[in-house]
Amino acid sequence: MAMTTTEKISTVNYHLVKGCNYGCKFCFANFNDVEKMVPFKEQKKMLEIIAAQKYIRKINFVGGEPTLLGKRLVDLVKYASKLGLTTSVTTNGSLIDVRWIREISNYLDILTISIDSATDEINRLSGRCSKVGVLPTLAHYEELASACHKYGVNLKINTVVTKFNKDENLALFINKLNPMRWKIFQALRVEGENEANFDQCEVSDAEYEAYCNRQLDSVANKSIVVVETNDLMRGSYLMINPEGCFFDNSNGGYTTSQKIAEVGFEKALSQINYSVEKFVARNGEYDVGNKNDKSGLYVKTRHFRKRQRERNVSDMEVNAVLSSIKCSFAGKALIVVGKPFMKLNHISIPHKNMIVMLDRFVLVTVFFCENLCELRTKNQIVLL
Ligand code: SF4
Repeated sequence: MAMTTTEKISTVNYHLVKGCNYGCKFCFANFNDVEKMVPFKEQKKMLEIIAAQKYIRKINFVGGEPTLLGKRLVDLVKYASKLGLTTSVTTNGSLIDVRWIREISNYLDILTISIDSATDEINRLSGRCSKVGVLPTLAHYEELASACHKYGVNLKINTVVTKFNKDENLALFINKLNPMRWKIFQALRVEGENEANFDQCEVSDAEYEAYCNRQLDSVANKSIVVVETNDLMRGSYLMINPEGCFFDNSNGGYTTSQKIAEVGFEKALSQINYSVEKFVARNGEYDVGNKNDKSGLYVKTRHFRKRQRERNVSDMEVNAVLSSIKCSFAGKALIVVGKPFMKLNHISIPHKNMIVMLDRFVLVTVFFCENLCELRTKNQIVLL
C-alpha cells in the first residue's frame, strides 16, 4: 500500500510566537498576517495532535523568538518530551543562559543557536542585535555552547548568508563552538515578510556558494556542514504558525491552511504544499535520539568521549550509529559505548550480551534487558 504524506513526515517546526527582540533585516518569520498566537492550553493540545501522528518524531520550537515565552516554552518542551517527541528549540540565544540550558537539559534534545557573524559591525548592519542595539557577544555564544556540551544537549548552529556577512570566514569561530550540525542558509525572500529590506540582504547563488566553500575549507569537521540553497528551502519544511495553521513558502509568500485543531491534521496538511522529497533532499532527516525514549538507553563512558575527541567524530555520527542499533533491537537493549565492564559489573545483566566493533572508533556493547526503566530508576548507571 502506498504511504500517505503523513506517513513520511518526521519533523514539524512549530512557530509559537510572532514577536522577536532582534530585528534581523532578512527575517522571514515576522508573521505580519497573524493576529495572535493561540493560548497555552491550545498549544499543548497541538503537541498532542502532533505526537499522535505516528511518523512524526521531532518537534522544533521556533519563533519569532520562542524564548520570549519564558517558562511557557520550558513547559512546552517538557510536555513534548513526555509525549515521546525529540525536542528542539531554535533561538537567537540572547535571552537564555547556562542555567536555562541546565534546567531544560533533561527534556531538550537539540538547541539551535542562530549565529551569522563573529563581528559586531556585521551584526549591527544586518540587525542581528536587539531592537535597542544590544549586540550578541562571542563569549555568550561560547558559554551557551559549552553548557550544551556539559549538560548533554546537542548543539546546532544556523547561519544565514546575506550581503552583510558573505565575505566572512565564520568557520574558525564555529570550530570553537564544536556543534554537531552547522546549517548554512542562503537568505530567502518571502513576500509579505521581508521584501522591504531584502535588496540590502540578497546574495547571488555564486556568492552563496563561495561563502560555503570558504567555510568548508576551514571548518574542522566537514561532516557537520549542511548547505541549504533557496531552492532547497522552498516547500521542504513542515511548519505551523502561531495561530495553529500549517503554512508553506513554496510560492514566494506564505500559503496558510485552516486551523489544524478545527479541521484535523490531514485536512490542514492537504491545503499546503509540503514536499517530503525536498525534506529528504535537504538532509532534514537526522536523528539524535530522544531523552524520554524508554526503548533503549545509551551510556557513553569517559573512555568513549576521549576516543571520540581524539578521532574527531561528531555527535551526529555517533547518534546515527546508535539510532540504527536501537531500531534493530526493538526496545530491549541497553547500549554502552566505550569500556563498560569495570563500572557495570555490579549490575546483573540478564543472560546474553553482544559486542560489536564498529568502524573507526566505537566499541558498542549491547545488553538485552527486560526492563530498562528499572535500571535507570535504580540509578545504577552513572558513567558520564
Ligand atoms: S532572531 Fe530570528 S526571529 Fe528574530 S528577527 Fe532575527 S531571524 Fe527573525
